[in-house]
Amino acid sequence: MEMTASQALAFANSGGDDLRALMARATARRRMHWGDVITYSRKVFVPLTNMCRDTCSYCSFVAHPDSPRANIMTPDQVLATARKGQAQGCKELLFSLGERPEQRYDKAREALARLGYKSTNDYLRDMCALVLRETSLLPHVNAGTLRTDEIDMLRPVSASMGMMLETVSRRLNRKGMPHHACPDKVPAQRLRTLDRAGTRGVPFTTGLLIGIGETWAERVESLAAINASHKRHGHIQEVIIQNFQQKPGIVMADHPEPSLNDMLRTLAVARLMLAPEISLQAPPNLSSRHIEYLKAGMNDWGGISPVTIDFINPDHDWPEITTLAAATRAAGCELAERLTIYPRYLHRADTFLDPALRARITAMSRPDGLARAQSLEVS
Ligand code: SF4
Repeated sequence: MEMTASQALAFANSGGDDLRALMARATARRRMHWGDVITYSRKVFVPLTNMCRDTCSYCSFVAHPDSPRANIMTPDQVLATARKGQAQGCKELLFSLGERPEQRYDKAREALARLGYKSTNDYLRDMCALVLRETSLLPHVNAGTLRTDEIDMLRPVSASMGMMLETVSRRLNRKGMPHHACPDKVPAQRLRTLDRAGTRGVPFTTGLLIGIGETWAERVESLAAINASHKRHGHIQEVIIQNFQQKPGIVMADHPEPSLNDMLRTLAVARLMLAPEISLQAPPNLSSRHIEYLKAGMNDWGGISPVTIDFINPDHDWPEITTLAAATRAAGCELAERLTIYPRYLHRADTFLDPALRARITAMSRPDGLARAQSLEVS
């Protein structure tokens, strides 16, 4: 039985023995559905553009179009990064990008026009197609809120998509709060994208950003909203619980980071509230407490890149895969590589995978749906 939202509210301040008991329940639930296999995806990151029409107070990725840091990668740059990833055995290429900068800034419109485009998402589609044509990588797109026609446009060129819900708190859109004047961070917009992805049969990644000023009740409400969307459409393949990080230069540079206990409590409650088939992920580069995380019920480390940094948290290096494998073993589990699309969705390809991608992905996967081992190119 899944934990209800009202039951989850009782764990707002749990620590000590209560937290340990909660984590033990979460681990038992993880083992029932996922066994002791902990997965990761070997990926390369392509920050297609860091311009964005939103201005989240915790974001150090975004660059105003007047900034010398503002950038849209050219097709040659996309391909060069993709090829480096392929040579290092990556199977996934994650496109991360700001949301619709052309709808707010002339300079973003002009930069896109120089590349021959009017919309960032049209450019994204063509860059996905380029990667599919020229490399063996599978694109995963993280383009934020999307209309249904945009999802339809991106589906044939991406194996999965994602958008962090972050929170359903409308309070955080008020003046002085982290999502003030961010049109794409209005919770209703993000919830609409979650549901649209479900109606279009897209295996979808979402998650919570914790510690940005939301209350425990709002966090629980966010998990309940994700689970409800999954119950309607069956498409949420993973939920990331990401902890806010202080970074120099952001508006929230002095805002306290969530504690380890807060992270563990949130992971455990997420495992117990969400449908058991939803993969639960925590970023391995934003804490060194890997064994504790594993004891809170998570089963996936997400994308790890041997090639590119975490552009969203550039001061936090990816752990070596061998280091992560050792921590995973120390927790009594085994590390395994997956593709960007999880086995459950690969096995339901008629609903969740565009026909254009099926043969390619089948060739990359083992019979159980995880990633097939491959030998690296020698350069
Ligand atoms: S977090 Fe995302 S939506 Fe917010 S400013 Fe940064 S890139 Fe834009």
